[in-house]
Amino acid sequence: MGRGGEWRRATGRLESTANRFLGILFPEFCRGCGRVLAIRDCLLCDSCWLKLSWVSDARTLAELTSAWGRANGVGFRRCPWPGRVAEIRTRAVAYMEPVMAAAIHNLKYRGRKRVANRLGRLMARVALSDPAFRGCEGLVPVPLRPEKLRERGYNPSALLAGSVSEATGIPVVHGALVKIRPTPSQTEIRPRDRTVNPRGSFRVVNPEGIAGIRLILVDDVATSGSTLAAAAGALLEGEAREIRVLTAARTPMGSLGYS
Ligand SMILES: [Zn+2]
Repeated sequence: MGRGGEWRRATGRLESTANRFLGILFPEFCRGCGRVLAIRDCLLCDSCWLKLSWVSDARTLAELTSAWGRANGVGFRRCPWPGRVAEIRTRAVAYMEPVMAAAIHNLKYRGRKRVANRLGRLMARVALSDPAFRGCEGLVPVPLRPEKLRERGYNPSALLAGSVSEATGIPVVHGALVKIRPTPSQTEIRPRDRTVNPRGSFRVVNPEGIAGIRLILVDDVATSGSTLAAAAGALLEGEAREIRVLTAARTPMGSLGYS
């Protein structure tokens, strides 16, 4: 072995020693089982990532909304979404139970890139296994309002979309959709209102990027479906050909949701 090989081995040893020291001084623990994490910044150990409560079925946006309505005592007189939006197929990786909730929290508020990569790879697997997602040509992350993006510094959905793109080869469509006003939060939708009206929360600004294209709308969590329906509705108005929805988490049917 030449000097180059020896040098590389020596620096490799130095790096792993440094990592071990860092691990001893500042150990990170698995949020699922409490064991020390072998890989830093990953939130969960490999076996806890496998313990997520997997979602196996698809739901339409209309089904998500009516299940959420039943759980919250909101009896919709009719489906709040216009025809094509109501029928949009949504898939998720796992239910929003404690381990997934910790993952989403870390993605949303701590910008953990490794968590996004892990979740994105799982989302890609779901999309690739579902024939209804075949032929999709673009990924659109649900955008944040510009003020919120400035405040947070990144868009969690865009991190997820980037990771799904790496695993599937489907490109991310940037800058086609913008958020112009907040969607009504779930706590604002009172049973007495019996309505959800998120129309006008999103707008397409670059129709040439989406017109005639079959898109996957990407978000972190599907709860009442109202944000997803508003974004999907805007994309369809912008002449997108078809929409599918892919999220990391879905709130369990009958739960009170997650905001
Ligand atoms: Zn664990």
